[in-house]
This record gives sequence, structure tokens and C-alpha cells, in this order.
Amino acid sequence: MTAFYLPGLLQFASQFEPTLVGMALLLCLIGSYTVMILLRRAYELHGERRLSWFLALCICFGADLWATHFIAMLAFNPGMPIYYDAGRTALSILVAVLGALPAFALLLWYPSLPFAWAVAGPMLGGAIGAMHFIGMSAMELRGVVTYSRDFVVASLICGMVGASLALRVMQRHGGQGIRRGSLFLASGIFGLHFIAMAGLTTSPSNDWHLAPFSTVSSNGDLASVIATVSLLLLVTLLVSATMDAKLVERQLEAKHLRHLSRHDDLTGLLNRRGLRERLSSMTGGRLVIISIGLERLKTVNDLFGREVVEELIRQAAERLSIEVMKTDILASPGTEEFVVLRRHAVAEEDALALSYRLIARLSEPFEIGGVTLQIGACAGLACSEGTGEVAEALLSAADIALREARLAGAGQAREFNMAMSARLLRRHQLEQEFRGALRNREFLLFFQPLFDCRSLKLCGFEALARWQHPERGMIGPDEFIPIAEAAGMIVTLGEYVLAEACRAASAWPEDLRVAVNLSPLQLKDPVLPQKIIAALAQSGLAPHRLELELTEGAMLEQTPEIQLSLAALKDKGVNLAIDDFGAGYSSLSYLHRFSFGRLKIDKSFTHEITTSADVRIVIGAIIGLGAALGMTVLAEGVETEAQLDVLRTAGCGQVQGFLFGRPMPEKEVLSLLDRVAKSGGSAIPAFS
Ligand code: C2E
Ligand code: MG
Ligand code: MG
Repeated sequence: MTAFYLPGLLQFASQFEPTLVGMALLLCLIGSYTVMILLRRAYELHGERRLSWFLALCICFGADLWATHFIAMLAFNPGMPIYYDAGRTALSILVAVLGALPAFALLLWYPSLPFAWAVAGPMLGGAIGAMHFIGMSAMELRGVVTYSRDFVVASLICGMVGASLALRVMQRHGGQGIRRGSLFLASGIFGLHFIAMAGLTTSPSNDWHLAPFSTVSSNGDLASVIATVSLLLLVTLLVSATMDAKLVERQLEAKHLRHLSRHDDLTGLLNRRGLRERLSSMTGGRLVIISIGLERLKTVNDLFGREVVEELIRQAAERLSIEVMKTDILASPGTEEFVVLRRHAVAEEDALALSYRLIARLSEPFEIGGVTLQIGACAGLACSEGTGEVAEALLSAADIALREARLAGAGQAREFNMAMSARLLRRHQLEQEFRGALRNREFLLFFQPLFDCRSLKLCGFEALARWQHPERGMIGPDEFIPIAEAAGMIVTLGEYVLAEACRAASAWPEDLRVAVNLSPLQLKDPVLPQKIIAALAQSGLAPHRLELELTEGAMLEQTPEIQLSLAALKDKGVNLAIDDFGAGYSSLSYLHRFSFGRLKIDKSFTHEITTSADVRIVIGAIIGLGAALGMTVLAEGVETEAQLDVLRTAGCGQVQGFLFGRPMPEKEVLSLLDRVAKSGGSAIPAFS
């Protein structure tokens, strides 16, 4: 029977039970969708997992195809009973599954072949056709079955085109093509079946006997059973594929989170946690750990903002990654810190040389947003033989060495030694005890006399804080001032020093001044001028007898608030002096901005004045600068008469140093003042 014209088409349609056809179509659509989902799943996976989903895919395809075909056949009623040969029916499923194997395999394992879909599609279409015709051959009925060749060819073309389009959409659009792909595949399967059926003719015959294993009879219940079983299979596969996809997604998320938790998001380098894990898994050998700390980032932050700092850190990380070897581990355990870990390393001096090389690279200018910035770096290193545990300890040791390098000054590198640990421990203990010491009034002031360079007449005293520790004895300010600054206690300590200095000086002759050192952190205190004025008022000391010593470092951060504070103090008549001149950053721009009355040459220059001609030139220049700006120049740290002679010749204004008197307690100041009064104003302890 051919169905080219309308009456023929109607007659053809009348041979089918519509409910069952609808059921077959629905199943075909659901099955094709599942096939596309599984194809996508298998494509996303690799190795054994891909293989498992590939097999599931082929089985799913076979089941979908077979169930669609079989229910559509149950819908077929040519007017005579149909029976099916169980063996050939089973064979048809096998053919569908086996036919799908090479087609899907080609698409999954050779997706980069330019027209993989154009080869795999016809193969899959062929599998659909093979299943259909083998399935048809299982049909046994009281009549003769013949096929129209044209319809067979057309049905095969439909199957192949449908399958090819489905695979093409999937290959091109992946997950986006699942719906379109399933429609194409369903059209191929359904189209092939019904076009082939349209070319089928059955003519009654008496020459018929039931095949020995024919067991299955056609009815709606059977169709429902097949549809239910197939649906169950498809739904199971669909749910499994979806759950598997979710599982993999979660695993990827977990992997991503793991990565994030172990890497610094700014530089992409290992963070502290990641570094610790690497260290703990290390097996041994010689190790060098270099801790590198960036400097002046805070100033960059204040001047240019956080974004510039972040870009700077990123660029610093890039420079370091170029400098280190591939086998080194580079990490960023803190925002301003890097760690280089070198295994199976190298002699110690090489490690030190490497540290200085890295510092030099980081000290080269950075170009960020059209601005040239220069920061510096310090490095601490620790070397040892050992495994992961040793590496952990080495990391701490390198950090301790970095602290020491920072204390030693810009651009320094230090190798760890045990004395550093002891110092760190002591510092830690002093930090703990500091607050209590303030409460217990363990701090006191010593005073060091200042003299006129020519006449050696006493001009005043510098107040220098001391910590009289009940167990450890006298502790110097170089040790406890940084602790007070770090602990946020410097402002409280500074208030005490100011009050004490003013009180002591108020008892001295009117022509003597007292100099008090101010920490840069005190300058940031917005009520500093009020505090100073209160201390003056309470002690009755005239403002012009107080001098505040600021270091060059303090002048680096000149916020408008600090400028206002200094101007307010200046207005009140308080003097300002620059301390340790030449030892800091020597940016001279601040000198003219405030009228500093005094400039104190750092003692490191004074110590070399008799031995180095260059230093003599520098001191001469500083004295000239002071004179030009109307400042008195004082040389600190004068220890010998030879130094005094050179300073006098150079035209230095005032001197301070062990040659004339060490810092002394208040009681001794009073007896010195007595002697000075008796000798007519120029008694110097060392000279008298
Ligand atoms: P500074 O202000 O430069 O004080 C001079 C330092 O040089 C004093 O050390 C003094 O004892 C020492 N010195 C004086 N003459 C000589 C000498 O001839 N040879 C040598 N080698 N050294 C000499 P000191 O008392 O240990 O103070 C160290 C630093 O601690 C001070 O340096 C100052 O910056 C800081 N400091 C002291 N007291 C205070 C304070 O109350 N507040 C703050 N913020 N800093 C303070
Ligand atoms: Mg000073
Ligand atoms: Mg000084």
C-alpha cells in the first residue's frame, strides 16, 4: 500500500490506534531528550566516567528507539492479528544499541574532526533503520508483507538526516542545543518509522503458521507496560545524569573554593595556608626560605590610594616570579610580604646574594597610571636541612630575620640567628609588661646638656626617657619606644614625658630650654597642641623654653592636620627642631615649610667627622644650609675634642655629646646647674 494521495493517506492513518501513536510519540520525544542530555554529560566528562555515560547513552538510545518502534507497531492494526518473534525482537534492540556505539564514540572522542556529525549522523540513522527493519522482520501475521523500495530509501534518508541534524546541533551548540537536537532526533526516529510503514503492504495469505517462539500478542496493555518500563529507564537515566552533573558541578565548586582558600586573590600566589600545606608535604633536603617585606606601602596608600597599592603589589609579585627559578615556591603569606622557598639549595652566601638581588629588583621604580613610584624592600632568610616540620620553623625564623632587617633600615637583608629569637622573646615580654610599667610609673626622664659650640655655655637639656624595670634594670628608649608605638601607648607615654620635662625645666634658670622628642604617631594626635599648652600652663614654663624634636620620618607624612598642629604650636612660641638630620629620607621640601629653629646633625656624621673628608663636606653643607634658612645647627654625639675642633672650624652652632655630659637624672642636673652658676655659666662636667 502506498500513501501518496489523501484517500490513501486516510486509509493509512486508519490502520493506527491514535492513543498508542500518541504514546509512541511522547516516548520518542522524552527518549530523544534523554539521549541528548546523556550525550552532553558524556561529552563533559573524561576517562572512565565518560565511558560509563557513553554506554548508558547507547543503551538509552536503543531503549528509546525500540520502545518507540514497538509501541508504534502495537498501534498498527492491518486487519489481521500480528505476532512477534521474541528472538528477533530482542535482536533488534541489540542492533540499535550496537549501531549507536560507533556513531556516539566518534562524536565523543573525535569531536575536533571537522564534520564528525556528518559521519556519525548517518551511522546513527543507519542504526535506527537497522533496528526498524529487524524489528519488522520479527512481525508474523496471516499474510504477505512487502515493502516499497522508494519508501524504504526515503525512510532511511529521513532517519539519517534527523540524526545528523541532531548531532550537528549538539556539536555546535553543546548544552544550548539539547532541545533542538532532541526534536531532530525524534523526527528522524518517528519519521523513519512511519515513512517505512507507509511503504508497507500486507496481503492476506493462508500459507501461514505461527513461529515456534512467537509469544507476544498485540494490545494496548502491552503498549502501556513497554511505555512504563521504558519511561522508568529513561527517567532513571535522566535523573542520574542530572544528579551526576550536579555532583561534578559541586566538585568543581569545591575545587575552586579550595584553590581560593589557598591562594592570594591579588597576586594569585600561594597564601599563608597554601604555603603551610606545601611546606608540610616536603620531604627533605637543603632549604632556603626568604621572607621579603615591601616598604613604604603605607605612604603610597596615603598619597595615591589602595588601588595603586594593589597594582604595586601585583607588579612586585610579577617581578619576583621572573627573578626566581621554576623550581622555587613563591608565595604571598601577607599583603605586604612575599616568601621565596628554594629547595635543594645553594650555599648561604648565594641565598644572601639572592635576597639582595630581589630587594634591588623591588627597589627599581614602578610605573602605575602614569606615576613613577619607588618603594623598597627588606629580606629575612633562614637556611637548614630538613623536612616539612623544619620548613615550618624556618618560615618563622625567616620572619624574625625580616623584622631585624627592617629595624636595620631600608633595603637590608638579614640571616636568622638565635640571638634574634632571644631579642624577639624579650620584645614580646616587654610588650606584655609595658602597660603595667606606665601604671607603676617605671618611666623616668634623663637629661643631656646642650652647649654653645664656641663659648661652651650651657643652653639647655634634651629630655630622654628611660624605663627603670624592677627586674631587668634600665631599658633604653631605642628598645621601648618602638614597643610603645606598636602597642598604641606612645601618646600616653609622650604626655607623661612632656609633663615631666616641663615640670623639671620650670625649676631651671630662665635662659635654659628643654628639648622633648616627639614620635611621628604623637604628631597625628589631633589634640596634641592642647596637651602641650596644658603641660606648659601646669608647669608654668614659658613656651619659648620648650623645643619639640621631630625626625625627618615624621615630616614625610604631612597631612593638613599635622601642618595645622605644628603651625598652632609655632604661634604659641614653642620651638621646633629637626632631629637626626641626614639619617632619614632627606627630603628637604619640609624644611622651608615650617620655621624650624634648630637642625640637629645625626651622630653618625659626627662620629666620622675626623676620619672622612666627605663627611666633613656634608657637615659643612648642612651648616651652610642651616645658616641660609636661619636655623641653629647642633651636632649630636660629640665624643672627642678633635670632633669639637672640626665642628668649631666648620661653624657649627651648638653641640651635645658624651664629651660634655651623658644623659643624667634630674638630681644630677640640679648639681650641674649649681656648678654652672658658681663658674659663671660655662662649667662643663668633663672639662671642669
Ligand atoms: P635622640 O633624640 O637622637 O637622642 C640622642 C641619643 O644619642 C640619646 O640616646 C643619647 O644618649 C645619645 N647620645 C648623646 N650623646 C652621645 C654620644 O656622644 N655618643 C653616643 N654614641 N650617643 C650619644 P638615647 O637616650 O638612647 O635615645 C635614643 C633615642 O630615643 C633618641 O634619640 C630619641 O629619638 C628617642 N627618644 C628618647 N626619649 C624619647 C621620648 O621621650 N620620646 C620619643 N618619642 N623618643 C625618645
Ligand atoms: Mg632627640
Ligand atoms: Mg638625635
